[in-house]
Amino acid sequence: MRKFVYHFNEGSKEMKYLLGGKGANLAEMTNIGLPVPPGFTITTEACKDYNEHHQYLSDDIYTEMMTHMEILEQETGKKFGDAENPLLISVRSGAPFSMPGMMDTILNLGLNDQSVQGLERVTQDARSSYDCYRRFIQMFGDVVFRIPGYRFEQALSDLKERKNYTLDTELTAADWQELIAVYKALYVSASGREFPQNPLEQLRLSITAVFDSWENPRAVVYRRLHHIDNQLGTAVNIQSMVFGNTGDTSGTGIAFTRNPSTGDNVFFGEYLLNAQGEDVVAGIRTPEPISHLEDTMPDVYQQLLDVAALLELHYLDMQDIEFTIEKGELFVLQTRNGKRTAQAAINIAVDLVHEGKISKDDAIMRIDTAQIDQLLHPSFDETSLANASVLATGLPASPGAATGQIYFNAEDAVTAAERGEKVILVRNETSPEDIEGMAKSVAILTAHGGMTSHAAVVARGMGKCCVAGCDAIAIDETKKTLQSATATLHEGDFLSLNGSTGNVYVDQIPLVETEIGGHFEELMGWVNETKKLVVRVNADSPNDLEVGLHFGAEGVGLCRTEHMFFQEDRIPYVRQMIIAESKEERLIALSHLKAMQKTDFAGIFRVANGKPVNIRLLDPPLHEFLPKTDADIAKLAQEIGKPADEIKQRVHDLAETNPMLGHRGCRLAITFPEIYMMQAEAIIESAIAIHDEGIAVYPEIMVPLVASREEIALIKKQLKEAIQTIFRKEQLVLPFDIGTMIEIPRACVTADEIAEEAQFFSFGTNDLTQLTFGFSRDDANKFLYAYQEQKILPTDPFQSIDQKGVGALVTTAVQRGRMTNPSLKMGVCGEHGGDPASIQFFHKLGLQYVSCSPYRIPIARIAAAQASILEEQQKVKI
Ligand code: PEP
Ligand code: MG
Repeated sequence: MRKFVYHFNEGSKEMKYLLGGKGANLAEMTNIGLPVPPGFTITTEACKDYNEHHQYLSDDIYTEMMTHMEILEQETGKKFGDAENPLLISVRSGAPFSMPGMMDTILNLGLNDQSVQGLERVTQDARSSYDCYRRFIQMFGDVVFRIPGYRFEQALSDLKERKNYTLDTELTAADWQELIAVYKALYVSASGREFPQNPLEQLRLSITAVFDSWENPRAVVYRRLHHIDNQLGTAVNIQSMVFGNTGDTSGTGIAFTRNPSTGDNVFFGEYLLNAQGEDVVAGIRTPEPISHLEDTMPDVYQQLLDVAALLELHYLDMQDIEFTIEKGELFVLQTRNGKRTAQAAINIAVDLVHEGKISKDDAIMRIDTAQIDQLLHPSFDETSLANASVLATGLPASPGAATGQIYFNAEDAVTAAERGEKVILVRNETSPEDIEGMAKSVAILTAHGGMTSHAAVVARGMGKCCVAGCDAIAIDETKKTLQSATATLHEGDFLSLNGSTGNVYVDQIPLVETEIGGHFEELMGWVNETKKLVVRVNADSPNDLEVGLHFGAEGVGLCRTEHMFFQEDRIPYVRQMIIAESKEERLIALSHLKAMQKTDFAGIFRVANGKPVNIRLLDPPLHEFLPKTDADIAKLAQEIGKPADEIKQRVHDLAETNPMLGHRGCRLAITFPEIYMMQAEAIIESAIAIHDEGIAVYPEIMVPLVASREEIALIKKQLKEAIQTIFRKEQLVLPFDIGTMIEIPRACVTADEIAEEAQFFSFGTNDLTQLTFGFSRDDANKFLYAYQEQKILPTDPFQSIDQKGVGALVTTAVQRGRMTNPSLKMGVCGEHGGDPASIQFFHKLGLQYVSCSPYRIPIARIAAAQASILEEQQKVKI
């Protein structure tokens, strides 16, 4: 027969899937001899059985539970429902993973009109006995029949007002009895039945209510948000009650073995005398700091310190402990690994290594990479945030928090920023033309576009907060208004954005800077010793690269040259290059651009100081650079001395129906080889200049959007010829590589051929995802949320690599590439290079590096180290 119920002495901390986290730890503490009130756990398997049988608690489970109730009666010497010496119990849910929004607790179960008198006799305390009974009715009503707690609280406030009391402690036993009558009436009116007097009925109803709570909407949402498996179920813990509300030598509290905000190794917590569990959390009375317990009950305090030390040593992590003191006797009701801030997580992990309690690998594995994001960006002041109202929610495209005044185009944003305002650029979507406005803004908000849209990618690169694809707002860029369901905002109004959650607030919320201090550097040193993947930075400017190097980048994995083309002094030449109708005309424009690009590349090489710099040749569709309005056309006509009509016609001719699939990437070099040749010359000439300054240089020249061997072979030949000409002229040869991006499915399946022509592959997983799924990078957010809600896709494939599909193509490309070119260098430069789950996948494939935006580098480094440790651990298991 299956066993559905475990007494605390039958379990262990390893059994958390069966007993839930709380149950497993209660069992563990019982077995190491801590003062845990006796009890038992009904397993998660029982919960599954209950759900499988359409919310029916089987006779087997019930009978087994009754056997454990009898044992509990023997252990405590009390009887359930007894009018002389009643056994009272607590009933608490406990899932394998902590789910704070769902935890249901019922205390004092077993009380009824008779047993309350028994309790009074035993405790010699009528006041606390009736207080227990009224609490029980309230919690039972709330958990079992969902009668809102505030209705009971209201009844209590009314009574206090009538009696002219301010504190709960002023209520007498008779007052509580009066309140119990009111509570019972409330119970009848809300549930349509009498409050159950039979303790077994109370127990059965409570257990099934806890099981039912697994499926309640808030629990379902919580599990979805935290990726917790719906099938796990919750356990139910039944434990004999101890009473913290029996006078001034009793109390209850919560203690942390270290400070959960800072990580400092000091005992931390709070307690209330003469109170029961929920009083501490409810905030009705202000708890005392735990250190005061030393003055009032020194022995208990010392015992609590010993318990804390023992538990931390046992679990080898900071513990969050719930305790109750009954008439001077200490009981431990719960222990778990304590929740902590990112800063505390780092400090505690490193301290535990220093104290010889855990290994460096353990410390690295304990770091939650998502939490580290908090440390790298400012965040909202918590108190002000609590009062702010959410206007809308979009995609959390680039983390951090920002507050500022809104402007609807790049030009206005720049002007306002120059006036000294903090600016939030609000656009339907951004384009490369907005780059300066984005640079001058503190944050970017777009109504359209996904996680790899222009706004998202560029904002992440700049380390700026960005909320993208916020389609709950309507933006009118002409009227300069932003409209949501509840408000209309105008230019200059204040807005606050949280790029880590996607929330948009109407108010101005103060920011707090987080300092990365303490042990962060030391931990990152261990990370470097452990990880195998190299972490590079996606950087388009010396400044991006400096930030990247500060965070530990080991080279540039992607420099998108087109981002350099939009500066005001360049755009006329870029436009001239595009609309040129002859090669001669194009070469004139290119010669101007070459001088500018040389300065750009020299700046990056200087900062890189010998580290590899991967420069991608021009990639985006040319028409992105063209003038759009008549005024822009007229201006260009004047600048380059061509009739406006002619320019208009050329712009029209260059327009494409599907620009993302059109004349872009290496296709530009097939039609206009001189563009890439100019860029290659600029790269090599600036490399020589930096080399002449005595600084090492290592350029990698990357050809984008390659689909076939023939493309890369032809382009490589042309580039090499141009480069050799420079070397001959300068009488100098510098090392450089030519390679390709792998971002088209055809390139993956013909990678063996392409690898014969390439020294490296850099996986452009943004385009590869777009082309594999056929999902537009810029529009997929309009439906991807539904794919996730309906579990068609587990996550957004533009954020975390789709291992089954896109990942299989990457695997094929890696295998085929190595087949024909064993020395092929391989890395990733798509956005997935900064995503921990994807990094683990790339590590397993044996790639050499990942590259990501500057602010994600610490996360990528930690994720790379975690991937190495996991691999080692798995080897040991085999
Ligand atoms: C990619 O496609 O993954 C990539 C890095 O290039 P881009 O995002 O510039 O298209
Ligand atoms: Mg691409």
